[in-house]
Amino acid sequence: MKTTTRVAIIGGGVVGCSVLYHLTKLGWSDVMLLERSELTSGSTWHAAGGFHTLNGDTNMAALQGYTIKLYRELEAITGMSCGLHHVGGVTLADNQDRFDMLVAERAKHRYMGLETEIIGPDEISKIAPVTNIEGIIGGLYDPLDGHLDPSGTTHAYAKAARMGGAHIETHCKVLSTTQRADGTWDLVTDKGTVHAEHIVNAAGLWAREVGAMAGVYFPLLPMEHQYLVTEEVPQIADMIDAGGEHPHVMDPAGESYLRQEGRGLCIGFYEQPCRPWAVNGTPWDFGHELLANDFDKIEDSIAFAYRRFPALEKAGVKSVIHGPFTFAPDGNPLVGPVPGMRNYWSACAVMAGFSQGGGVGLTLAQWMVEGEPERDVFAMDCARFGAWITPGYTVPKVVENYQRRFSVSYPNEELPAARGLRRTPMYDHFSAMGAVWGAQFGLEVPNYFAQNGEPDFETPSFRRSNAWGAVKREVKAVRRGVGINEVHNFSKFLVSGAHARAWLDRIMAGRIPQAGRLSLTPMLSPKGKLIGDFTVSCIREGLFQLTASYGSQAYHQRWFEQNMEPGVTLQNISDQRTGFQIAGPKAAEVLQACTTANVADIKFLDVKELVVGATACLVQQVSYTGDHGFELYCDPMAQRALWDRLWQAGKPHGMTPFGMRAMMSLRLDRFFGSWLSEFSPDYTAAETGLDRFISFRKNVDFIGRSAAEAERLTPPERQLVIFEVDAHDADAVAYEPVFINGTVQGFCTSGGYSHHAEKSIAFALVPRAEMTDDLQAEIEILGQLRPAKRLLEPLL
Ligand SMILES: Cc1cc2nc3c(=O)[nH]c(=O)nc-3n(C[C@H](O)[C@H](O)[C@H](O)COP(=O)(O)OP(=O)(O)OC[C@H]3O[C@@H](n4cnc5c(N)ncnc54)[C@H](O)[C@@H]3O)c2cc1C
Repeated sequence: MKTTTRVAIIGGGVVGCSVLYHLTKLGWSDVMLLERSELTSGSTWHAAGGFHTLNGDTNMAALQGYTIKLYRELEAITGMSCGLHHVGGVTLADNQDRFDMLVAERAKHRYMGLETEIIGPDEISKIAPVTNIEGIIGGLYDPLDGHLDPSGTTHAYAKAARMGGAHIETHCKVLSTTQRADGTWDLVTDKGTVHAEHIVNAAGLWAREVGAMAGVYFPLLPMEHQYLVTEEVPQIADMIDAGGEHPHVMDPAGESYLRQEGRGLCIGFYEQPCRPWAVNGTPWDFGHELLANDFDKIEDSIAFAYRRFPALEKAGVKSVIHGPFTFAPDGNPLVGPVPGMRNYWSACAVMAGFSQGGGVGLTLAQWMVEGEPERDVFAMDCARFGAWITPGYTVPKVVENYQRRFSVSYPNEELPAARGLRRTPMYDHFSAMGAVWGAQFGLEVPNYFAQNGEPDFETPSFRRSNAWGAVKREVKAVRRGVGINEVHNFSKFLVSGAHARAWLDRIMAGRIPQAGRLSLTPMLSPKGKLIGDFTVSCIREGLFQLTASYGSQAYHQRWFEQNMEPGVTLQNISDQRTGFQIAGPKAAEVLQACTTANVADIKFLDVKELVVGATACLVQQVSYTGDHGFELYCDPMAQRALWDRLWQAGKPHGMTPFGMRAMMSLRLDRFFGSWLSEFSPDYTAAETGLDRFISFRKNVDFIGRSAAEAERLTPPERQLVIFEVDAHDADAVAYEPVFINGTVQGFCTSGGYSHHAEKSIAFALVPRAEMTDDLQAEIEILGQLRPAKRLLEPLL
C-alpha cells in the first residue's frame, strides 16, 4: 500500500471519488483514497440516481449544472458508461405560491443560461402522461434532469482519477487520524499507516465518526429514505416501444419524485413522519444492506401518489429501497477547509450526490490546489456554522429540512426548528416590546417590533409582507427622530500586538486608520475577489476592533488564522461585545444626555472610549442606516444598564426600537451594499464600487493587490447600478434578470422597498457598455417585466 501521499481522502462513495478525480484534473496526482470496503459502500449504492439543476441557491444550481454536464466528460475519458438518461423533468405547481416560486426560478435561469421553461397543464399531460393534471396550474420543465447508474458513475470517477495518477486502496479502514507538529497527518488504517499532507473527510454516513477521530464535530445526520420500483406500467412500456422516455415528475404537493425505471416507474418520498437514523452514531458494521421496508411511514404519501399518478395503483411493487443518507441542518453540503483545523478538509453531508457531487469535487479541488474556489460557495461552506453548533441544533434542523424538502421557500421566511439557542441579554426585554425574531448564525435577531396591533408573525411571502406597516413606522421614526437597535449581529474581532497594523495593512485592501478613527475596507482574495467588507477601528495604536457580518465570522476567522503572522493576537469577540446603534437626527442629543463627554467633538468616523451612563463603551460615529448615528459597544453584562440609560434619554425624543427589516430598507436610500448580496466572492471590488475604498497609495503588497491593479488598467465588463423600479406589490430580492433593449443583460444582487423615499429599489450588475446616466431597463419580478430607471444620487 502507498504510505505517503499529498492528499488522503477517506471514503469511496460518489463524493470521495469525485474529489479524487478533480484533484487529478487540476494537476495533483500524488493523491489517494482509502475505502473501508468496496467503492460505493455507504449511501451511494442504493441511491435512485436522479439528478437535477433546481436549487434555491443560485451558485448551488450552477454547480449542479456543472455536475450534470460532467457525466459525458467522464464517459469520454474512461470509455465507461454512467447509464445516463437525459429524460428531462417537470416540477408541478398546484397553488399560486408554488407557481410564483417556479416562475422566479425560471427568471433566475435566464441569465444563468439554463434552458428551463414554464409549461401549462396540457403540455405536462402530453410529455408526462402518467400525471393526473387535475388542480395543476403549471410546472417548470428542465431538459437537463435525468438519472444514471450510481455504481457505474462512481466507478467512472474512480477510473478517471486512476488515469490521472490517483491511488485507491479498498478494504482499508481508517482507524485514527493524528496530526503531527508540522501540520501533516498520520492515518492509521487496518493495513498500516499513511502519512498525508492533507486529509479530506468524505466518509458520508460515517463522516461524524471520522471527524471525531480528529476532534471535530460535523453537524450532519442520516435520515431514512424510501423509494419503490414497480413492475411494468403499460403507459411507460408503450412510450419506450415508441422510442420515447418518460420525464421525471417532481410533485411537491405529494412530496414525491417519480421517474421511469426500466419499463415501470420508480417513486420516492420526502414524507412528513420521517425518521432520523443512527442519531448517536453510524454503526461500523453497517454495510451493503437496506433498512426494513416501512409502508406505514409513507402511507399518506402513497395515497396521494395514487391520485396524482393513477397508473401506480395498478402496478405491482417490484422492489423497495429503504436506506439512510446524510443532511446538514440546512440541507446543503459541508465543504471546505474545516475551521480551526490545519490541512483538514470536508466533503460531507452531500444529500444529492448525483446532482451535487461533481460540483463539490470541483470546488474542493480548486480550494486545495488553487487556494480558492472560483465562485461564492458560502451556501455549502462548512464555515457557515459556528463552534456553537451541537447535535441539539442539528437533529431538529435536519428533520425540519427533510420535511421541507418540497416546501415553497420564501425570501422573508424564518424557520421554527431549534430556535432560541443563542440570545443576548435583551431577548426577554425586546420580546416584551413586541420583537418579532429572526435567526442569524444561531442568534436571535429582531426583524421588527410589533406595536399597537401590528402582526406578531410575518407571513412568508414573495410579495410585500404583512410587516410592511410596522417596518415603515420604524423607518420613519429613525429618519425623523431617533431609532435604536442592537449591534449584536455584527461580528467583532480584536486585533492587537506590535505587528497588528502591519498585518492589517496586508490583509485588508483599504487604508488602516490612525488611533481614534475608523475606516471601511474591502478584504480581497489573492485573485481579487471580495471576501470581506470590514469596518476597522483603531482604538489606540496596536489595538484594533474589526466589525463585519455576524454570519460570516467563522469564514473570516478561518481566513485570518490561515494568514496569521507573529506579533499579532486575534480574538473573536463577537459575543463578548454587544451594545446598540442609535441613529437619526436626534441621536446626538440622546447620547449627549448620557455622557459628560462633548458629543459634538465626536466627528464622523471617530472612535472613542466613553462612559455612557455607567457603562464603559467603545463609541463610533457611523451608521449603516445612513443617518447621523453612533454605534456603542460594551460588555454584555453591562448591556441592560446601557439600555436603561439610553431608553430613558431617548424617550423625550420618541426613540423607537427598530429591527433588521427597517435597517435593510434604510440602507437602500444610501445605496449601501450588503455582504453576500452585492459584496461576495462572486464579485470584485471594481465591479461593486468597493474599489473606492482600496488604498492603492499605501506602500504594501496587500492580498489581492495585483488583481485589483489589473482591474484599474482594464475595468471589469460589468458594474453595479441602482435602479428605481416601477414595482407592483413585490420588490426585487436577488437574481432577477435585467432586460436592456429587450434582452437579458444583467441581474439583481438585491433590492427592496425604501420606505423613506417610497420607492422600490434594485441593485443590479449590468454591462459597463450599457451604463448611461439615463439607463432604462426592465426587471422581471414574479413573471412581470417591471420598468426600471437608473438612479444616480442617494435618496436622502
Ligand atoms: C434511498 C436513497 C435514494 C437516493 N436517491 C438519490 C438520487 O436519486 N439522487 C441523488 O443525487 N442522491 C440520492 N441519494 C443520496 C446519495 O446516495 C448520497 O448523496 C450520496 O451517496 C453521498 O455519497 P458520499 O460519497 O458522500 O457518502 P457515502 O456513499 O456514504 O460514502 C462514504 C464512504 O466512506 C467509506 N468510509 C466511511 N468511513 C471510513 C473509514 N473510516 N475508512 C475508510 N472508508 C470509510 C464508506 O465505506 C463509504 O463507502 C439517495 C439516498 C438514499 C438513501
